[in-house]
Amino acid sequence: MEPISPLEQALHAARALVLADLVAGKVAEADVVSLVEESVVQRRWWVDQWPEGVQYVAGLVAQDVQDALLERHGRWPLCPVCGTGDPHALDVEPELGPDPHWVCHQAGVKVAAVGSLGSSGLGGAPSS
Ligand SMILES: [Zn+2]
Repeated sequence: MEPISPLEQALHAARALVLADLVAGKVAEADVVSLVEESVVQRRWWVDQWPEGVQYVAGLVAQDVQDALLERHGRWPLCPVCGTGDPHALDVEPELGPDPHWVCHQAGVKVAAVGSLGSSGLGGAPSS
């Protein structure tokens, strides 16, 4: 058996992280999961062209899925930090870099690492 390549490991991790955040936001329906798969396929091609980009795939897959969801379902993930004002989505930062996080630009805070929305204590039940 061949060892799993670093690329496949990175893609597998990216898929798992983004799925975890989708589950945390309760939007992990079948058609949404297929958006993640589409992104992973595209990013596999992309990293083939640019191997140094392998460490960026988690943030990129998160952004791909966010863009695709905006067209089909609406904003995701909704900001759990701001209790007032218009509902708004979190952004991935850095857009192209390792160790991606969800941030709220209105509050100017890092909310959670990509993959950790559900364990931030903010993505689930409303806090009092
Ligand atoms: Zn916010």
